[in-house]
Amino acid sequence: MDSVQRMVEQFGGNDAKMRRLVMYWGATVLLYLLCLSILWVEVESGAAARRPVWWLTVLAVAGHLLFYGLIRLSKYLNLTPAQLSVYQGRFAIFCTVAGYSMMGPLRGASLVILLVILVFCAFTLEAKKTHSLCVFAIILLGCTMASMKYTVPQLFNAKTELIHFTLSGSALLVVALLTGQLSELRARLKAQKAELIEALAHIQLLAERDDLTLLPNRRYMSDLLGREECRRKNDSGAACLVMLDIDWFKKINDTYGHFAGDDVLRRFAEEGRLQLRSDDVLARWGGEEFLLYLRETRLEVARTVIERLREQIASLRFDCCGAHFGVTFSAGLIELLPDEPMDAGIRRADALLYRAKAEGRNRVLAEHAVAAKREMPATCAPGSPAAARGIIECAGGLAP
Ligand code: GH3
Ligand code: MG
Ligand code: MG
Repeated sequence: MDSVQRMVEQFGGNDAKMRRLVMYWGATVLLYLLCLSILWVEVESGAAARRPVWWLTVLAVAGHLLFYGLIRLSKYLNLTPAQLSVYQGRFAIFCTVAGYSMMGPLRGASLVILLVILVFCAFTLEAKKTHSLCVFAIILLGCTMASMKYTVPQLFNAKTELIHFTLSGSALLVVALLTGQLSELRARLKAQKAELIEALAHIQLLAERDDLTLLPNRRYMSDLLGREECRRKNDSGAACLVMLDIDWFKKINDTYGHFAGDDVLRRFAEEGRLQLRSDDVLARWGGEEFLLYLRETRLEVARTVIERLREQIASLRFDCCGAHFGVTFSAGLIELLPDEPMDAGIRRADALLYRAKAEGRNRVLAEHAVAAKREMPATCAPGSPAAARGIIECAGGLAP
């Protein structure tokens, strides 16, 4: 079973689209084989000349081998399925009409093949291209029938040719119009599908982004942390969580207005995007609270990252109603313990943030994993027993 599958993959490629093209190609090969067999029966019964049928057979086999190569190499040759379909369609129409001119009295039946070719091509072609293929078939058929009066006068019968031409020509037109409509329908469905995919991506973006700051929102962050929690069960690499909160934000709103507050949130997010590394995920957790997740990061590195952000934010100046003001934030930073649930990590970071506020704001308090394993101390002033137990004060500063 495996070897059959390997053979199919070698012949048709392991891409589903390519395999479909090769499958269509295979179907046309079968059709050609059938038509050529009938032609050769005609040759053996003396109704068709051997030499032209021989040349047509060579042309059909060579053409099909060439098309197989073109299909398999289409990616490298920049050939689209539609282009291939036009070439294959024209070639098939040419062979069918040539076969028609060589066949005996039964040749009228072979014209049905022209309809099959058109339907095949309509699968990949736009309506316009199917129509032009139909026009090509009608013109080629008309010219071939007219030339048969001189090339094979023994087979030519004006009345029979006229009937063949009228019937096959009108059937070709009807099939081209119908398949053209189907192609249009297919194109509309394809466009609608593309629109739906785009709309879905937009909805997903809306569901995962915070409108104001354009940062990932709480829902996105919770999902991400859930996934990370599972991942960390198998690979407990270092990771840090930071809970950040803008200091005295209510005062900013009250003094300068809500719009100024919104502007602060936007600028804060912008700085976060600029200062943080591409792997770090900063999300708006609530009002003026943000949660930062640093993957594959040790506490010391996280401290440097967050300290850099703290300094940058503190150096910003905001203008509102002729007044200038600055903004600071406080943060609680923890390194997750191996197997520690994210909820527990967030609670620890939150507790540290609370302490940072209590100690005067504009500071980052970080906690070593070792300290987290013990009971949390009640106070963490520098030089206090808490500091000795592992709580590190990264920075201190002025509140507005
Ligand atoms: P602290 O330093 O202790 O964090 O004090 P604070 O004033 O920053 O904290 P508090 O929780 O008292 O106030 C937070 C304020 O943030 C209250 C709320 O109106 C405001 N806020 C929440 N979301 C938004 C928002 O989207 N835009 C604006 N402009 N304000 C917001
Ligand atoms: Mg605040
Ligand atoms: Mg807050």
